[in-house]
Amino acid sequence: MSDFSIGVDLGGTNLRIAAVSSDGQLLEKITLSTKVALGPNHVITEMCDAIQRLSGKYEETGKFLGAGIGVPGIIDMQTGMLRKSANLPGFEDYPVRAEIERRLRARVVLENDANVAALGEQWLGAARGIANVAVVTLGTGIGGGIVIGGKIWHGMNGMAGEFGHVTVEPEGPPCGCGNRGCAERYASASAIVRMAQEAIASGEAPSFAQAASSDAEFGAKSIYNLAIQGDEPARRIFRTFGRYLGILLADLINVLNLDMYVLGGGVANAWDAYAPNMFEELRARSLVYAATAPPQEPVWGQPPSAVRAERSSAAAGSSTSPSLRTQTGARKTVITLALLGSDAGLYGAARAAVMVS
Ligand SMILES: [Zn+2]
Repeated sequence: MSDFSIGVDLGGTNLRIAAVSSDGQLLEKITLSTKVALGPNHVITEMCDAIQRLSGKYEETGKFLGAGIGVPGIIDMQTGMLRKSANLPGFEDYPVRAEIERRLRARVVLENDANVAALGEQWLGAARGIANVAVVTLGTGIGGGIVIGGKIWHGMNGMAGEFGHVTVEPEGPPCGCGNRGCAERYASASAIVRMAQEAIASGEAPSFAQAASSDAEFGAKSIYNLAIQGDEPARRIFRTFGRYLGILLADLINVLNLDMYVLGGGVANAWDAYAPNMFEELRARSLVYAATAPPQEPVWGQPPSAVRAERSSAAAGSSTSPSLRTQTGARKTVITLALLGSDAGLYGAARAAVMVS
């Protein structure tokens, strides 16, 4: 007998539903497309049908403990409604949690997608066995989540962890949030594209203009490929990226003093291109980091897969990674890559469903 919960990742493009046992085994995963244009009622009906299919199937083997739903946007934790979501138009002011609870007659937890991704990495991923961790997701923008004592830190009303909008440059480029010089204007996929466009416009990067004309999907990944081939303008962009990511992390480390900071999202994989500058800023700007830095930072120049493999073997060996402590037993600040990819949110949502808040 293994009790289980259901995690849902309700994105603007994909709707993914997974049954996960309470000891962290994935029982089954369903992927549907999110038909946002048909309205929230249609999307919620499809989601509830899938949840009921899975819960019915696995109720023969264990008790269904509830469902956790990760959604992009700002959530009102009290009412279980989405206050604002760029990816789910039409969902604002729709009673998401109440509607799902009514249909399923089960406990439902609604969470921000970055928060559940952080909880997933803490439960089963890079920070397995570590109670206090922040996860910084580097994608189109920057998402974030803080887990303290194995629980999501929500702040007053669920808005904690907005790492992407921490100011890293007072007079920097304007951000959609109304501020200037936000971290996500420098350390995200869209920031890489912006810096590349600026370099093309100023005539500094003929290599970009050439690559852009022959590559219809010219974007952050193309700039990364140029950088690892030694293209100087591309390398400069990743130095800037690493520098501002380092400033952001230095601030987080000074304020939070957590055991681990996990970098996730697609652009995090460009580790070898940005990590040297990131660590340089950390050492220079955070007294807490300087006092707790591991004797050896993860080696740069290594492809991220190698860094990952090292982490997984460390995680598999014991519940606490050996790199968290030195031989004298002093605890160290670890910066590392996420392990679960886009499944982090599914696992975290399933976990959130069974946590007593
Ligand atoms: Zn901002």
